[in-house]
Amino acid sequence: MTATHTATARLTLDAPQPLLVGGEEVPADRSFPAVDPSTGRVWAQVAEGTAGDVDRAVAAAQRAFQTWRQTSLDTRQALLWAVAERLTQDAARWPALLATENGRAVREAGFIDVPTAAEIFRFFSGVVRDLHGRTVPCGPGAHVFTEPRPVGVVAAIVPWNSPLISVAHKLAPALAAGNTVVVKPSELASVSTVEFVRLVQDLFPPGVVNVVTGFGHDVGRALVSHPGVAKVSFTGGTETGRRILGDVADRLIPTVMELGGKGSMVVCPDADLSTVTEDVLTGIFAANGEVCFASSRLMVHRDRYDELLERVAARADAIVVGDALDPATQLGPLITAGHRDVVAKRVQAALSEGAELRAGGRTPEMSEELAGGSYYRPTVLASPDGLTCASREEFFGPVLTVEAWTSEDEVVDRVNRVAYGLANGVWSADLGQAHRLADRLDSGMVWVNTWFATPLGQPQGGVKASGFGREGATATLLEYTATKVVHTSFDTTRPPMWT
Ligand code: NAD
Repeated sequence: MTATHTATARLTLDAPQPLLVGGEEVPADRSFPAVDPSTGRVWAQVAEGTAGDVDRAVAAAQRAFQTWRQTSLDTRQALLWAVAERLTQDAARWPALLATENGRAVREAGFIDVPTAAEIFRFFSGVVRDLHGRTVPCGPGAHVFTEPRPVGVVAAIVPWNSPLISVAHKLAPALAAGNTVVVKPSELASVSTVEFVRLVQDLFPPGVVNVVTGFGHDVGRALVSHPGVAKVSFTGGTETGRRILGDVADRLIPTVMELGGKGSMVVCPDADLSTVTEDVLTGIFAANGEVCFASSRLMVHRDRYDELLERVAARADAIVVGDALDPATQLGPLITAGHRDVVAKRVQAALSEGAELRAGGRTPEMSEELAGGSYYRPTVLASPDGLTCASREEFFGPVLTVEAWTSEDEVVDRVNRVAYGLANGVWSADLGQAHRLADRLDSGMVWVNTWFATPLGQPQGGVKASGFGREGATATLLEYTATKVVHTSFDTTRPPMWT
């Protein structure tokens, strides 16, 4: 199905977006266009930062760090809460902005992205009060305690697919722990980050939060390589993660790496297929399939394979694809025409390797202003043996491959054979079987009888090529600190080493 609505009030920002450095809005000499994926139309101009801008932003963040690191936990708590409140009060304008920016269906942006970002700030506002060290029992002759200390300037590099949530996942814990931040949003989705920081930056002393927009190979690289940066927190593709690790190796600075994924849903013979079908649709078609946690492999027990494949393909065919600004749209356009073409090429490769097309696999006909959009139909591939590239590679689009399995050993081996290890899932009425399987799947997260459940407090992150570090949990605060120990001795006796 294709949405028929034509959005009349399209968003256009007339003034070029500034850089945000040291609490000031700084114009850049050059800018580049932000393109609305629903239409292919330019809707804003983004500042193209330079290495000099990175220098200025890092210097501002270093200056601000000297006082921000000393702020009390109750001050940070109140400020993080105030960020959440401000975003919530401003919520009405965000869904359209996010939909225009990256093609996220407006209704999804409204009930997922904005409240989730606010919730992340509330969560860290709460747990920061529990940021403290420990004493180490060493007997009556010494007092030994640890302290979690902020690391300094954090470079936060984020992708385009859920920009507001990604920025919140970096900013909230880094600030809570007493660090200052320079954010580098994706060149494909910069406006929401600039607008968000503009909305809240006056809550903080100048230089605590800075934004330098621009391209990854240029500004991104200059930022992670900057000698004033103490930590890199990166969310993005696995190849980019490897490049950044190469760039920081000389300086030996710590990193958080939230990278790509290739999630499998394992469906056991006794699973309730009605619930499973809803979760399959959400798991692969929410956020246009452009999600690191997407469940792009559906691994169904052979006894239920035909039935579930049939159901999922029929439901995929009924999904409403269209203008991200249309409230009726269930699946918006992909981020760019170039990315849509890559997804389409990968689907063709999977078909040529033996997969069978059961739904989608094409660009829908769109009329009038939507003809320039980068749309792709929700796609279902049948591949019982899972031998095509669709079972190995992250397509980062609305493409599901459905596979069949017979024994637990076989399905565990096939799920774990991929390079990634972010999120997998198991559906079973038998919790013994579900836990047995969950225990054997190599991933940072395993969902049982659900998908995409990420309440704050539950650590998010991966293993293997999906990276390291955890977001969204109390332990995340420790990612942004270094443990310092102070050991005080009360004992004046010494071993006879020098006598
Ligand atoms: P990307 O790796 O192309 O870009 C991510 C960010 O890195 C952008 O801001 C980009 O400008 C910057 N960048 C690029 N090259 C750089 C360099 N050499 N030095 C410093 N910065 C550089 O990723 P993308 O296409 O924006 O996002 C999609 C990818 O992100 C997918 O692989 C997806 O799985 C992953 N992702 C992972 C998570 C997670 O939590 N694990 C969440 C969202 C997205």
